[in-house]
Amino acid sequence: MKNVVDKSPVQAETIPLFIGGQLVRSESTRTGQVTNPATGKVIRYVPMANAADINAAVSAGQKALHGWRATPALRRARVIQKFLTLLQANVNGVARLISEEHGKTLGDAIGSVERGIEVVEFACGIPHLLKGEYSENVGAGVDCYTLRQPVGVCAGITPFNFPAMVPLWMFPVAIACGNTFVLKPSEKVPSASMKLAELFQQAGLPDGVLNVVHGDKEAVDAIIAHPGIAALSFVGSTPIAKYIYETGAKNGKRVQALGGAKNHAVVLPDADLDFTADALIGAGYGSAGERCMAVSAVVAVGAIADPLVAKLKAKAEAIKVGPGDAVGVDMGPLITSAHRDRVKSYIDAGEKEGAKLVKDGRRCTVPEYENGFYLGTTLFDQVTPQMTIYKDEIFGPVLVLLRVQTLSDAINLINSNAYANGTAIFTRSGSVARRFQNEVNVGMVGINVPIPVPMAFYSFGGWKNSLFGDLHMYGTEGVKFYTRTKTITGRWPDSGTVAAGLNMPTL
Ligand code: NAD
Repeated sequence: MKNVVDKSPVQAETIPLFIGGQLVRSESTRTGQVTNPATGKVIRYVPMANAADINAAVSAGQKALHGWRATPALRRARVIQKFLTLLQANVNGVARLISEEHGKTLGDAIGSVERGIEVVEFACGIPHLLKGEYSENVGAGVDCYTLRQPVGVCAGITPFNFPAMVPLWMFPVAIACGNTFVLKPSEKVPSASMKLAELFQQAGLPDGVLNVVHGDKEAVDAIIAHPGIAALSFVGSTPIAKYIYETGAKNGKRVQALGGAKNHAVVLPDADLDFTADALIGAGYGSAGERCMAVSAVVAVGAIADPLVAKLKAKAEAIKVGPGDAVGVDMGPLITSAHRDRVKSYIDAGEKEGAKLVKDGRRCTVPEYENGFYLGTTLFDQVTPQMTIYKDEIFGPVLVLLRVQTLSDAINLINSNAYANGTAIFTRSGSVARRFQNEVNVGMVGINVPIPVPMAFYSFGGWKNSLFGDLHMYGTEGVKFYTRTKTITGRWPDSGTVAAGLNMPTL
């Protein structure tokens, strides 16, 4: 990257913005703290960008737009190909930043970067999807065809829990389609996005095609209000997703806003008990439950409930909690002390509301890391749909188990929930699984697959309160989101062969 342009004197450890290919200081005097959740120590400061910063980033995007959209799609794809190679060579470095700022284990962070890289691989082939349609002779001597063109300057606002993967769902697709991009990552985990921008610049991306700003509501509101931004992709919690969708649409932008989740896993009596319990433990407690596709509610059908609870308890007790970069650790800390306390308060509420606390993670301590934001694995049985621990997204290592009698009960329960991101079923019966996939009102369904995150050549998105907008993220729906069609009807008449008329033209 190029040298920092000093606009105003600020602390050395404050992360800069990346605008127009330069590392620049924010115009804002407000900063936030970036904390290592494993130690509780402040490791960096992050600027809280203001409207002037957003304006500078959008201007850089606008300046770069003409040249980038005019660059042949294959040449754009070649830059993305180089970015892919650099990313593959830097997986561990990016993963270390993620683990340091988010807290997840290194192995989990590596996996998340690799899932993001799949979208970059997909983006290399996007020229194929930018082809339009052509009909010859729709009228006498008249041809009709469509073009798929970039929408302009796009913006992405991303959550803390996937510092590289979620940004990679957005900007490689937008940029491959010929757009320019302003990324506003979560202020809690800003460094991975800066590394991605650095690698993309090294790959030959022209200045201004990708810009990174940091900040909170002030920056987001400036993005939503900016008339120069054509499309807005958001991933985060449901209340903010709804706000972004409504306000963005009011301001004339196309918006896709992905929200929170409460993902159910249904376990039928014929399921393979060990396989299912292992899958649920990984999906419930991986990344300390801070995944939008985490399984947070287990729905046990019939007699499998007792043996399943016993297995889950034993496996949850065996999970080792500690700093994400330590060998042998299965689960890292939560993102902040405030969030850890919030998750704890849900465990308190579950107990008060009468759920059976099978495994309590509240008294978890990690020697030598007393100031880290740790919480142990927690398991509740006998949970009912009326309880807060069932209704709310907890976003922590808390698995709740509900007991039902039939598959119909399970489907009704899921279809009554306000969220509909992902769900899974565990069974050996093909017909049961087929009925489930047909009747369940959820965007992503796993059959004996606990976290059914689609591959990059499909698209990611939930239903109901888990997604506001029409198009899912990445894959062919991502290409549709970041392009708009133009339909051309044309003829090349020999002079004098077509008479002009005032009537509505027909064939
Ligand atoms: P969040 O909604 O608090 O923040 C997301 C982004 O919005 C951040 O960049 C943040 O700076 C910004 N923001 C926060 N408050 C804002 C406000 N009042 N006005 C405008 N912008 C604001 O989410 P989070 O805590 O970072 O992430 C966790 C949430 O994200 C969970 O609910 C999780 O389910 C969800 N999530 C969903 C998906 C999905 O694909 N559906 C994926 C990952 C995470």
